[in-house]
Amino acid sequence: MRLILVGPPGAGKGTQAVFLAAHYSIPHISTGDIFRANIKGETELGKLAKSYMDAGNLVPDSVTNEMLKDRIGHADAADGFLLDGYPRNVGQAEFLDEVLEEKAISLDAVLELQISNEEIIKRLSGRRTCRDCGAPSHVIFEKPAVDGVCDKCGGELYQREDDKEEVVANRLNVYAEQTEPIISYYQKEGLLKVISAYGDVSEISASAIAALK
Ligand code: ADP
Ligand code: ZN
Repeated sequence: MRLILVGPPGAGKGTQAVFLAAHYSIPHISTGDIFRANIKGETELGKLAKSYMDAGNLVPDSVTNEMLKDRIGHADAADGFLLDGYPRNVGQAEFLDEVLEEKAISLDAVLELQISNEEIIKRLSGRRTCRDCGAPSHVIFEKPAVDGVCDKCGGELYQREDDKEEVVANRLNVYAEQTEPIISYYQKEGLLKVISAYGDVSEISASAIAALK
């Protein structure tokens, strides 16, 4: 299975990506997670990506495309993968098509998670992220057992710089202007499946599986 998840920030892509990757036994490839790991490790790539990410802007395609191409070339992605957060503009979608064509492989589906801007703002303003494993939680909707501590691994929960209110507004603009056009791009390719991002995590997972059958 070669799958892309798209949806605005806060739609729950990361949560569903973890579930779907396990369900189909494919690696979960999140460009945002790769950038955050590089920032944490203080690599050159991390230093470059940080200013763009903190402002809610896209990291330049020249950097992101090569990073993604390298990642899908790893052995664990030979039989399938799930992309979360890539492509994020039409240029990246075209680049990905070229890479796949070179490898003589193709995508199986692009799954869009749909949600309103109002709901996104509610979700992101309370979102906390684990510094160690990246798992998301929420101060109201998904409270951890112990405040500030990740339920999954015991790591420290923090608020991502780009989840702060001022930055969320910019991320929504970037999504509408740059990322939304990839939805019609994939619709034309006949790959698009759309599901609602409202409801319980398990309900959304079930609709994802049903849409992908
Ligand atoms: P979310 O989906 O919640 O916005 P991500 O973790 O996917 O969060 O992305 C966080 C940030 O990482 C983005 O705002 C952007 O700066 C950078 N980023 C992630 N993926 C890409 C990409 N494909 N192209 C450019 N920048 C990216
Ligand atoms: Zn954790």
